[in-house]
Amino acid sequence: MTASTDLVARLSAVRTAIAEAAAASGRSAAAVTLVAVSKTQPVPAIEPALALGQRVFGENRVQEAKAKWPDLRLRHPDLELHLIGPLQTNKVKDAVALFDVIETLDRPRLAEALAAELARSDRRPRCLIEVNTGEEAQKAGVAPGEVAAFLALCRDRYGLSVTGLMAIPPQDEEPGLHFALLADLARRLGLAELSMGMSADFVTAIRFGATHVRVGTAIFGERAPPP
Ligand SMILES: *Cc1c(COP(=O)(O)O)cnc(C)c1O
Repeated sequence: MTASTDLVARLSAVRTAIAEAAAASGRSAAAVTLVAVSKTQPVPAIEPALALGQRVFGENRVQEAKAKWPDLRLRHPDLELHLIGPLQTNKVKDAVALFDVIETLDRPRLAEALAAELARSDRRPRCLIEVNTGEEAQKAGVAPGEVAAFLALCRDRYGLSVTGLMAIPPQDEEPGLHFALLADLARRLGLAELSMGMSADFVTAIRFGATHVRVGTAIFGERAPPP
């Protein structure tokens, strides 16, 4: 099999698994958006996914995305690009220009920088608040107990369009507990979008109400290790 026939098989298996998991929770497959995580994948590896109709992609680094996506977007104006990695304030201008959804809104300083950039730009990316459900010291994200206040700050003071929550559960814990926590938080705050679940656990995440699953390896195969 060529690399691209591999991708055809893997992408269709992921789509089937999403549809089955959605159906098992009484939801339609259309209620769950597959964010294909194309970080580290070169453009030729991404093109077969585009050819199969995939239009929502996730990248974790602004510079890498800026090198890959503007040309592809000219050919596919209906793309939706999600930033799923940490955003430094000095990259906010590029991020606003490139991304439709910023999933990693995680601190007041970033909210302030985004608001300042939106005042200069006609683009209006939606934002998800990243929640550190495991309260891990080394991980980005807002502590669960602080999300309500941070959401109010983002909306009332900075006028950001916050539509949901995102989380990456701790590696060594049962992800379902974290998905349940995130879903409960979103429900109490009236937020519709829930980005949770990766290659290893997206089926579980859908069971807990994920509206967006971020799947890389299961679609594109193993990533090359970072240089
Ligand atoms: C890399 C990454 C993913 C995809 O991970 P896979 O295990 O390859 O599916 C999802 N979310 C975030 C935030 C990531 O950085």
